[in-house]
Amino acid sequence: MSNPISSRRKRVLSGMRPTGKLHLGNYMGALHNWVRLQNQPEYECYFFIADLHALTTDYADPSQIPANTREVILDYLAAGLDPDKSVLFVQSHVQQHYELPLLLGMITPLGWLERVPSYKEMQENLASKDLTNYGFLGYPVLMASDILLYQADFVPVGQDQTAHVELTREIARRFNQFYKRTDGSEILPEPQVLLTPSPKLPGTDGRKMSKSYGNTILLSDPEPEIRAKIKPMVTDPARIRRKDPGNPDKCPVGDLHKIFSTQETIAKVYEGCTTAGIGCIECKTWVADAIVSALAPIQERRVKFEQNPALVTEILADGARRATTRAEQTMQEARSAMGLGSKSGFNPVANLSQAVPNV
Ligand code: SF4
Repeated sequence: MSNPISSRRKRVLSGMRPTGKLHLGNYMGALHNWVRLQNQPEYECYFFIADLHALTTDYADPSQIPANTREVILDYLAAGLDPDKSVLFVQSHVQQHYELPLLLGMITPLGWLERVPSYKEMQENLASKDLTNYGFLGYPVLMASDILLYQADFVPVGQDQTAHVELTREIARRFNQFYKRTDGSEILPEPQVLLTPSPKLPGTDGRKMSKSYGNTILLSDPEPEIRAKIKPMVTDPARIRRKDPGNPDKCPVGDLHKIFSTQETIAKVYEGCTTAGIGCIECKTWVADAIVSALAPIQERRVKFEQNPALVTEILADGARRATTRAEQTMQEARSAMGLGSKSGFNPVANLSQAVPNV
């Protein structure tokens, strides 16, 4: 399963929190692009499930994290991430993810964390949770460590996450100002953002598709469920009656057609909608057909992996081993540069690299 990866290729890293089964928004906003990147020979890809990040907000009840992690890896594999082309792993299976945040936390000014826009925003949005904890304030350091451990060249993210990569770059710069290799070279390269082009993907209520809005179509939804979710979808508000013409550019169903339907169907939608030649029910049937057929190969792959949990466990164990090897190279340099470990050969943390993940 392991594939020797040339160190000359550009390293790409990204991950998702284990929020449970993934939806079309996750697919079009990230996964689809990750599959494209892994298939380009110039990239060495690492994709992980950020279960430690889940703890920053769900520390009081972590009971769902293992099951949600399992769902996300199944969706990664179903979407086409291939363990022969990418390193797929769970964050907590790689011990170095616990260690670098501690070291980077020493050099990260508190003000940098307090000014992260999503810090206050999330505290307000998740008012039911007490997010005055140190782990939540420090999650950008956790995120920076995720990236810097692998000395990633590129981080594929959406526009809304570029601030986090910028903070990672600032932390790397500060680290490099304090510490260097013995030859004077820098240890932590600054990663670049690889902006993910993602089309507008509305949920069934017309707002952005998001689990927190309850408006998602899951990658694993069975066909009747997909059709049932699309049937009551909001449409162009100008089409009150069947005889009123509408505009697919002002309709969430029209947005879905643009992503999933053929050019021929899209032409029929524009013609039929703007002349009131078709009804919205018919139009929704067409978009449901397109989504069902786009998801068919993804769902087939998911079933294959669901039926073989031992294979999924082996994929994650192999991914953890490969990720650990890479991460430990960075840690050895970081520890040494920060005066930790021992040049005489006694290093009490060296065995961490041999930890076998319990998946
Ligand atoms: S016909 Fe289709 S695109 Fe036009 S308003 Fe109805 S659902 Fe939307």
